[in-house]
Amino acid sequence: MARTMFDRIWEQHTVLVRPDGATLLHVGRHLVHDGSRAGFRALAERGMTLRHPARTFGTPDHYVSTKSHELAAIPEPNRREMVSALAENAAAQGFTLFGLGDVRQGIVHVIGPEQGITLPGILMVCGDSHTATHGALGALAFGIGASEVSHVLATQTLWQSRKPRAMRVTVDGVLGAGVTAKDVILAIIARIGAGGGSGHVIEYAGSIFRAMSMEGRMTVCNMSIEAGARAGMVAPDETTFAYLKGRPFAPQGEAWERAVAAWRELPSDADAVFDREVWLDAAEIVPMATWGTSPEDAAPVTGAIPDPAAAPDAERRDAIVRALAYMGLEPGMRMEAIAIDRVFIGSCTNSRIEDLRAAAAVARGRRAVVPAMVVPGSGLVKRQAEAEGLDQVFLAAGFEWREPGCSMCVGMNGDLVAPGERCASTSNRNFVGRQGRGARTHLVSPAMAVAAAVHGRLADVRLMKEIG
Ligand code: SF4
Repeated sequence: MARTMFDRIWEQHTVLVRPDGATLLHVGRHLVHDGSRAGFRALAERGMTLRHPARTFGTPDHYVSTKSHELAAIPEPNRREMVSALAENAAAQGFTLFGLGDVRQGIVHVIGPEQGITLPGILMVCGDSHTATHGALGALAFGIGASEVSHVLATQTLWQSRKPRAMRVTVDGVLGAGVTAKDVILAIIARIGAGGGSGHVIEYAGSIFRAMSMEGRMTVCNMSIEAGARAGMVAPDETTFAYLKGRPFAPQGEAWERAVAAWRELPSDADAVFDREVWLDAAEIVPMATWGTSPEDAAPVTGAIPDPAAAPDAERRDAIVRALAYMGLEPGMRMEAIAIDRVFIGSCTNSRIEDLRAAAAVARGRRAVVPAMVVPGSGLVKRQAEAEGLDQVFLAAGFEWREPGCSMCVGMNGDLVAPGERCASTSNRNFVGRQGRGARTHLVSPAMAVAAAVHGRLADVRLMKEIG
């Protein structure tokens, strides 16, 4: 029977199926971070030890200060303790930690692929919703809750009450200049809605994803959760293998050859049937920005804020009204007329070296007119960017250049957007209060973020010369 890539990986990781249909899955890799303290506490309370240290990897990211990686720079004692607890648990349980002071530290979804921990065909989990990022390499990867984290720590397995359905999103054609992976995923979510992928694992297919870099695929898969999907995946191919080859935790030598041979068997069969199919034409995708409080509230930067009166139903109309009230915007207003107070370039969506190169290409020789900051996704990304002189480009353009961490993606580490302030952000969530109480978030690509910083308003990056 024809099978999807998702079917294949699910079956390969099934340990047993209970009479009620629940499936016990073997977990290939488990990523933990500074928010995983409760999982380790639960383990200790039951007198258990970590089941598989070699399959567990950790890094502090959510609570670390991006001004300094000294522990003392984390002002809030409980959060400082959570970062310390991760290091203590790593020492006690014997798993690999990329801690503060280690150049390999970074956002958990940046370091997994970077270190070759994320591999095609594995089941990967982490107590963070944006674990979907790792599906870019052909892994089945999803976020889990705190009690599931402790179950994985104790058993290296995970119960799933039901198998998600399979969905395929195909984007064919050629992307225009200045249109990036971030614009592609925002366009997809705007099309299918924040619940459009609910109950599904999305496979991204079509010429756009085949031609896309690994880092672009990560940006796309990262935001699958914003379409409500359990996970997002791209079939592994030569781009994937070239990206992984030689990375520290990827198979080496003969094991590499065997692994690649197995990975070539993963892609969905040509006649595999998906429960839902969606098609987009790449030629119709332009630089995007969000105007509301859900990632589905996205529009072309050349467009206008929608009129709730034109909404298809009362529920959507009310959602638009609420979103515009929070965002302080009016229906019909041009997207490019939205003034911006601050710019953030970072997060597990857009903090990799290609993101920083794309942003620097726009920032070069220009000047931000609002406060702006760049937060690399890992110490290795930061080092690479500095080797290429990108830090100097940003500093000359008036941007701050910070240490790696989740930073302003989430208002829990001191990097905050002030109440009422409007931030053009390369992160993944524009929910009410996500970047701080009363903060207003406009999701954009790295290049669009720089365009906003330079103009002090949302701006079409395609109208700026030398966009790289
Ligand atoms: S950058 Fe944001 S979305 Fe990504 S792991 Fe950190 S808090 Fe989560």
